[in-house]
Amino acid sequence: MENTLDLTNKYIAKTYNRAPVQLIRGAGSLAYDAAGNRYIDLGSGIAVNQFGIADPDWIQAVTAQLSCLQHTSNLYYSEPTARLAKILCERTGMERVFFSNSGAEANECAIKTARRRAYLTYGDASHSTIITLRGSFHGRTITTLSATGQDSFHTEFGPFTGGFVYAQSGDIEDLYRLADGEACCAVMLETIQGEGGVNVLDAEYIQAAWELCQQRDMLLIIDEVQTGNGRCGSLYSYMHYGITPDIVTTAKGLAGGLPMGATLFGSRCADVLTPGSHGSTFGGNPVAAAGAVNIINRINDELLSGVLQREQLIRDLLAGANGVVDVTGRGLMLGIRCAKPAGEIMAQAARAGVLVLTAKDKVRLLPALNIPTELLQEAIEILKRVIAE
Ligand SMILES: *Cc1c(COP(=O)(O)O)cnc(C)c1O
Repeated sequence: MENTLDLTNKYIAKTYNRAPVQLIRGAGSLAYDAAGNRYIDLGSGIAVNQFGIADPDWIQAVTAQLSCLQHTSNLYYSEPTARLAKILCERTGMERVFFSNSGAEANECAIKTARRRAYLTYGDASHSTIITLRGSFHGRTITTLSATGQDSFHTEFGPFTGGFVYAQSGDIEDLYRLADGEACCAVMLETIQGEGGVNVLDAEYIQAAWELCQQRDMLLIIDEVQTGNGRCGSLYSYMHYGITPDIVTTAKGLAGGLPMGATLFGSRCADVLTPGSHGSTFGGNPVAAAGAVNIINRINDELLSGVLQREQLIRDLLAGANGVVDVTGRGLMLGIRCAKPAGEIMAQAARAGVLVLTAKDKVRLLPALNIPTELLQEAIEILKRVIAE
């Protein structure tokens, strides 16, 4: 008998360490596997299913578009895509959007834009360097790996794209030292480093990076691939800091479970990309765009205050719990440092019916933004038991 686990292990590239779980369906924050086991999902497919699994309202929006037209190239106009761009710009104050299909692509587009803007300003590549942070994660393409400030990503796939320098995260002086050392065109950062271990950057540091960029005519690029789309209690996490980034990138939860990336441009770079300078076959796909319109329109004040209430519930339940060292993050992007190895907790929690993720040495929680509080409470009690064991 051919089963999915055997077929996967035999025929799919071995890039992932998978848990022996095959999810086949779900409803909201509950998922079921092929054997009928029930799981409370605190991972959302890595911050993707913003309103959970098979959300009826989202399905309605997506299928309505799917039955009209599944794809049109970017040689023509597309209503849901245009509407989504307008909503994103109105909600952020940004001026234009480029649509792609993933976080890595959204970041590639940001990098190209920063470099092209510097090229158009100086007439050459003299200001091509981009400062990123140690512990960051920006994607898996060669260039976004190069941008990723973790040495472990910089082996065996070289030569890497040049022109990235890495600042010690949280160290304002180091940022200035790098900007003084080389002519730079941008700083790129995550307000909370997700893959890097749910590391929260100080508000003071983020504001200093913004000031530096304004002083030196550099662009501030905020990578909101994971932190965005309501995840941290505001539509985009930068909105907590009273700053105006020049570029915001997002993907993961944007379309609620369909592949979509977006690069939002502010006034300093809205017209840098011109016909032929960038593109994507699938970018702005109407079905994904219809899904994203549904998701973004539902991320309102009420939903966002619910995200912060759920964060507080999780923090209250975990406070002083046996084996919990500390909790980092904001909104529904939380990291739990535990006495026990995070990988062990993830596996044991799955066996106990709770799906969680890890980030470096922490257990990471990224539940749906509308997870019912009773389910959340049930899941955290199970998780606490596993952590304490
Ligand atoms: C996941 C992630 C990416 C990469 O997104 P993909 O869609 O996997 O290409 C980039 N940046 C951050 C902050 C991420 O969390």
